[in-house]
Amino acid sequence: MVYDILRKYGIRGGYHDQHFLIDERILDRIVDAADIKPHETILEIGAGIGNLTERLMEKAGHVIAIERDPELIDVLIDRFGNLDKLTLIHGDVLKVEFPSFDKVVSNLPYSISSEITFKLFKHDFKLGILMYQYEFAQRLVAHANSKDYSRLSVNAHYFADNSMIMKIPRGAFSPPPEVLSAVVEIKPRHADFEVLDEKYFLDFVTAAFGQRRKKMRNSIIRNKQLLGIDDMKEFIHELPQELIDKRPENLEPEQFAQLANMMFRHKQE
Ligand code: SAM
Repeated sequence: MVYDILRKYGIRGGYHDQHFLIDERILDRIVDAADIKPHETILEIGAGIGNLTERLMEKAGHVIAIERDPELIDVLIDRFGNLDKLTLIHGDVLKVEFPSFDKVVSNLPYSISSEITFKLFKHDFKLGILMYQYEFAQRLVAHANSKDYSRLSVNAHYFADNSMIMKIPRGAFSPPPEVLSAVVEIKPRHADFEVLDEKYFLDFVTAAFGQRRKKMRNSIIRNKQLLGIDDMKEFIHELPQELIDKRPENLEPEQFAQLANMMFRHKQE
């Protein structure tokens, strides 16, 4: 039982994003959602006391677990130190280099959800089953024309198909966090629209959502330096007017790409 592990090692948590998942049924459902095959390598970010790690090791060929807290690393070594199936990495997930992996399954440290998600999008993997704060998960899976649609939603849609698969109550954790949680399934794939220059496209999306209430026309003119177009005042007339008269929250990801591609091509001329 997860409670027994916490008690045995005298771990209380509650700081540094340490809210341990104690609901055994939810732990099992998360592992089931990952559909782990015996040859697969699973990455776990923030392994804590190993409650999820243990279940991942039952199914996977190999588990790579990253944990920053030295006290929890000691617990993990004590529990699983003699097992070849596990590679323990003691370090900050944002600083360590990820070895290659097939799937990532984690109850993430919520305060760095965004940084971790963007880091994951730079890697090649088949599937992510990730626990986030509920509001973050809503933004991750949001579609255009909704209040949660954001820079994160456009990025996430560009890299993967994302869906919320479980909503998790506070009581599933010890100690209970102040916020609700949700598990998101992330299925990386190539976008079904063309992007001429990925960095240019992503920077454009970031700049647009930096002025969320403004029409695209205004943020494009204001960001002409970042976009590298000196004659923006003239060039803007060549962009589709029906798109630049919208606010960023009303543009589909492929429409951001359409605008970014036109500007990138003009910049190259
Ligand atoms: N996997 C455990 C579970 O499900 O109960 C623990 C999850 S807890 C929400 C997040 C874990 O991430 C904690 O164990 C915390 O120490 C660890 N953590 C926080 N920041 C981290 C970082 N920058 N790098 C690696 N681990 C981190």
